[in-house]
Amino acid sequence: NWGSMDQELVVRMMDENARAAEPLDNDRVIREIMVVSALDNARRAEELGLGRERILLSCKMSGVQDLIGVYRELSRRCDYALHLGLTEAGMGSKGIVASTAALAVLLQEGIGDTIRISLTPEPGGARTQEVQVAQEILQSMGLRSFTPMVIACPGCGRTSSVFFQQLAQEIQAYLRQQMPLWRDRYPGVEEMNVAVMGCVVNGPGESKHANIGISLPGSGEVPVAPVYEDGEKTVTLKGEHIAEEFQRLVEQYVMRHYG
Ligand code: SF4
Repeated sequence: NWGSMDQELVVRMMDENARAAEPLDNDRVIREIMVVSALDNARRAEELGLGRERILLSCKMSGVQDLIGVYRELSRRCDYALHLGLTEAGMGSKGIVASTAALAVLLQEGIGDTIRISLTPEPGGARTQEVQVAQEILQSMGLRSFTPMVIACPGCGRTSSVFFQQLAQEIQAYLRQQMPLWRDRYPGVEEMNVAVMGCVVNGPGESKHANIGISLPGSGEVPVAPVYEDGEKTVTLKGEHIAEEFQRLVEQYVMRHYG
């Protein structure tokens, strides 16, 4: 962690840099100290008999560019397994965005073997959010799948109520809740896409690309909701119980396709 670096090493490398013909700026020196420190410690562990395959290097930095710079350098200079994580990323969307920005760049370059997202929870908030965000980063990048994804439109002038937002939220919660059971029973279900769209003008096109999708009626549209499975319209839902009926259709789809 860059907050607790070996002070002897810091002083020595800072002095060497100050005497250099072309000294690096402070940030670059700190990054270099992190890299040297990690590699020195790994080498010492190996000298003491720890196998290379049991060593995982972690350099915790709280700046996005610092983290990217340090890990690019580590991956260039060694083949130890690397653990990625932006430390002290912060609360809420700031922490999620900063962590995602840093990790996405590195993962895209093939750097990193394990990841951790460090978020400060809201008072009383769940620690599990860190795991969820980590999974969503990997799944969004197409690297690993954990839970079926809900594709939902943002809503616009065509949506007159929050019904479609609630349905998207409920379906996402339902899919997460089912996963402990489905994981063993329906292998491959974690790669399923479910679309929840807010109108029947653009909704059907998006729904056709998902495994199963629904287009809810937008403002001024007839109150019906066509459902598509594997690109084909299968049924049109209407009435008070569209949400429950769509959830049942999703469940039946899962049983038919992954059972
Ligand atoms: S799908 Fe329809 S409701 Fe949703 S953003 Fe697009 S136009 Fe608006």
